[in-house]
Amino acid sequence: MTITYVDNNATTRVAPEVYQAMGPYFTDDYFNPSSMYEPAKRIARAIAESRQRIARLFGLHDDREILFTGCATESDNAAIFGAARANPHRRHIITTTVEHPAVLDVCKDFERNGYDVTFLGVDRNGNLDIGEFVRALRPDTLLVTIMHANNETGVVFPIEQLSRLTKETDPTILFHTDATQSVGKAPLDLPRQFPHVDMLSFSGHKFHAPKGVGGLYVKRGTPCRPLLIGGHQEDGRRAGTENVPYIVGMACAMQVAADCYDDEDTRVRRLRDRLETAIEAQVPYVIVNGKDAPRLPNTLSICCYSVEGEAILAMLDSDGICASSGSACTSGSLEASHVLRAMKVPVHAAHGSVRFSFSRYNTDQDVDRIVEAFPAVIANLRKISPLWDSQKNEPRISERVVA
Ligand code: PLP
Repeated sequence: MTITYVDNNATTRVAPEVYQAMGPYFTDDYFNPSSMYEPAKRIARAIAESRQRIARLFGLHDDREILFTGCATESDNAAIFGAARANPHRRHIITTTVEHPAVLDVCKDFERNGYDVTFLGVDRNGNLDIGEFVRALRPDTLLVTIMHANNETGVVFPIEQLSRLTKETDPTILFHTDATQSVGKAPLDLPRQFPHVDMLSFSGHKFHAPKGVGGLYVKRGTPCRPLLIGGHQEDGRRAGTENVPYIVGMACAMQVAADCYDDEDTRVRRLRDRLETAIEAQVPYVIVNGKDAPRLPNTLSICCYSVEGEAILAMLDSDGICASSGSACTSGSLEASHVLRAMKVPVHAAHGSVRFSFSRYNTDQDVDRIVEAFPAVIANLRKISPLWDSQKNEPRISERVVA
């Protein structure tokens, strides 16, 4: 069976150019970049060139502002722990209720350890209240950590505005953004677009590099202590022998992505929009999450009343369609995603969430296959759902209760 892969916010396939660029570093060029002999120096130069390439793509003049990590989870942890260790007297952090666990769970951990954390909520479209954000800033605020684009809904937060307001209030408050879902999907010139951001996380496997390599932009002069100690690598800011093939691969992937940005914004957006329009036309009682907010061009997050997301995914899977759901099975009972709960999606819709996320490798045929399968999947599940009234063709319960 052919596979229709539309789960690119989870991970992406490695681009052929990337695979090819990485090859020699697994075979002939395997030397430790810290060693003193000439072949090893060649490897160190490959890391340096990759760093310069990524810095240039971010519009940076100083490539030391790019730190290589093992993944975005590490980058997020490094930013938050690093800021806290460098500024032990400030003990207030601002974040949002819709962050990825790589930020949210770290902030909760800080809260358990005596920090005061403000978790800002969002409205039904997934937008933040800017007034509430400004009121949350305090003289003892250490760090603001707010994601750029949401992994579940694709909703994009106004990072330029939030970081500017932060620095206008107090230039010593640090601003970190988890840009894991946006880097590689649109051009990002940091000095021009995000001049007030101090730290920014990204991850190779979201833009066609392999899983297991990420990066953290740390603006020059940002007080941030290392998370990993025990070696001189990365100027002593992230110890551990470098993952050379993956670093080379990530730099190559970012370059290839930069050459495809127009494609992402036109062709990928058109695929997403075509699917969205077809589903809205053919499936009753569907909510498009974040429909009226700025959104990534590749992401479609929907909630279908009276069906379970897991059942939808299982049926799509049997048709060869790989998508994902926002729900997480916790302690035996299904709980709607924290993002959809924060957006106050009605409970009987939030459980029927599905996310389709496209990449440049998707085609119109992929959309055709989903459009062919999806309405029947939902209709069949609703036929056997106690929450669906088949006679009236509407949900039995459609109250606007929060999950
Ligand atoms: N942050 C966001 C917004 C993500 O979407 C993800 C992964 O889905 C992560 C962080 C974690 O990335 P990684 O898998 O590189 O640790």
